[in-house]
Amino acid sequence: MARYLGSVCKLCRREKEKLFLKGEKCYSNCILSKKRGKNAPGQHRIIKSKISDYAKHLREKQKARRIYGLTEEQFSHYYEIADKMRGSTGDNLLRLLESRLDSVVYKLGIVLSKKMARQMINHGNILVNNKKIDVPRYHVKIGDNITFSERCKTNMRKFHKKTALNTPAWLSFNEDKFIGTVLNEPLLDEISRYINSQLIVEYYSK
Ligand code: SF4
Repeated sequence: MARYLGSVCKLCRREKEKLFLKGEKCYSNCILSKKRGKNAPGQHRIIKSKISDYAKHLREKQKARRIYGLTEEQFSHYYEIADKMRGSTGDNLLRLLESRLDSVVYKLGIVLSKKMARQMINHGNILVNNKKIDVPRYHVKIGDNITFSERCKTNMRKFHKKTALNTPAWLSFNEDKFIGTVLNEPLLDEISRYINSQLIVEYYSK
């Protein structure tokens, strides 16, 4: 399935919350902080007072898929893997999504969006344990060290000052040495604040 190429702000308006998909503009000039950004996009935006359970499940799945920049196919593939793993499917799904290299680079607070993180990775600017990794879906493990090519460090230092993101407790970032380290597995408490994985499990269980 093709990647979405339309306006990413429409996706935030659809989900009625900031998904931080655009980079610098998300921190300075977000449409959601303006009156016209409060409504869902499109001509036929019917505002219903009560939404069905199915719609709730669908919206949560769509929100998560958009946050991680995945196609339907990629997202359902992650769900299948999570479902086959031991333990809670919802928790497994969040851990899998969160430990993707593009998500980790974004969470370190050195790029302004996951899209930017993917570009950096695709262009060979990211090293994991001193080995170049150019696949955004690569999964980091506890103890991995993430470093960056010299040519992109200047920009990253600039972005680091602009982003309002706090590095989550399961990652650490050494600003002097410019090294990110994976200290732990992704902490679900932090992710569950913005994604309800149970709703996603119910969506796929139907
Ligand atoms: Fe979403 Fe960023 Fe656009 Fe705001 S500026 S609506 S957070 S993509």
